[in-house]
Amino acid sequence: MTSDFAPAGTLDARDATRLRVLQCIRSAGTISRTDIARALDSSPATVTSACGALLDAGLIREERRMPSENVQRGRPRVMLQINGEAFAVAGLKVAREAIVVMIVDFRGDEIGSFVSPLEASCMDPDGLVQEVRRALDAACARHGLDTARIAGLSLGIPGFVNGETGFMHWSSSVTERNVDFAPLFRKHLPCPTFLDNDANLVAKAEHLFGAGRGLSNFLVVTLEHGVGMGIILNGELYRGERGCGAELGHMKVQFGGALCQCGQRGCLEAYVGDYALVRDTSTGQQSDAAKSIQDILHAARNGDRLAREVLDRASQILGVALANLVNLFDPEHIVLARSRPPFDHPYTEAMLTSLRRNTVQVDAPLPEITVRNLDEMMWAKGAAALGIEMVTILKIRERGTQDAA
Ligand SMILES: [Zn+2]
Repeated sequence: MTSDFAPAGTLDARDATRLRVLQCIRSAGTISRTDIARALDSSPATVTSACGALLDAGLIREERRMPSENVQRGRPRVMLQINGEAFAVAGLKVAREAIVVMIVDFRGDEIGSFVSPLEASCMDPDGLVQEVRRALDAACARHGLDTARIAGLSLGIPGFVNGETGFMHWSSSVTERNVDFAPLFRKHLPCPTFLDNDANLVAKAEHLFGAGRGLSNFLVVTLEHGVGMGIILNGELYRGERGCGAELGHMKVQFGGALCQCGQRGCLEAYVGDYALVRDTSTGQQSDAAKSIQDILHAARNGDRLAREVLDRASQILGVALANLVNLFDPEHIVLARSRPPFDHPYTEAMLTSLRRNTVQVDAPLPEITVRNLDEMMWAKGAAALGIEMVTILKIRERGTQDAA
């Protein structure tokens, strides 16, 4: 059996051409065969053959357009479009308190979304996949969709995840390390399921729908319980060799420093992650257990010295980390995003000052920095976009196998 994890690199030459034609149709919206051949610098015969296979597979459809009124004669032009009804894809993000689900059609148009609350923020692998199944079923039920219509599911979790194999090295959402999720997905889920790091999903969503639209080189840094990063390089999501790349949160900022949830010391998120802020402002009283980031921001605004010190240190360190990214990548744009609570203004200003101070000064403007309060659906939307890509590759490979038989 072929793996559900389907990088485009595994396609043979004919299927790779079909994928390129499909991607060309997707980015154009509506396009003729002649224009596809021109855009891809390919022969009309190759494009016609690829379109035939995509039509047979139901992935695209034809639309006949009558020539415009000022053209007296002529046959209708045959245009091609993505067939939105081909199938549905679900994107899911595992957050601390809930699993957020978005279901889209093959065109990427939203069918519906759903938030499924979680009782525990850290689960054993089997329990987590069962929660995912519950969230998927509930989302489908809410929107009157048969679960069998879901052709693929893309799941984002925080941590070190190999997006090409479904192997998770470590995640703050899972009680065990080194988990091969593929067998659990096959056991509990009704369709091919793809796993990815959650910050990659935001990078994908920003690239397709947000501040990164049309950009080739940009970074997304997510700031929540931990700190995540997604890297778009030359227009592609960069995952690293083992799929463990871009773990900005575990970049060391202090030798032998504060203990991080990954087990090591001195990581960035051990100073700026939400859990670190709560820990470092705790004074040993009972009320500490229920403390939230809002409480800390509120205390700092009211002059609480400890809260101010902890937030001030966090914003300085985060600014240095972002400056290091600018010095390292020289990106066009950095999006700094968090879902809840929204960025607090003084905290953000101090962070940006630290960023400017620590960036190598050259006679060129700094990359644009967008500080964004992220709609939590954006994660799921990114997951759904990745899901469409993966399912497309699977469907094209499936079609290729049928043709060969
Ligand atoms: Zn760490």
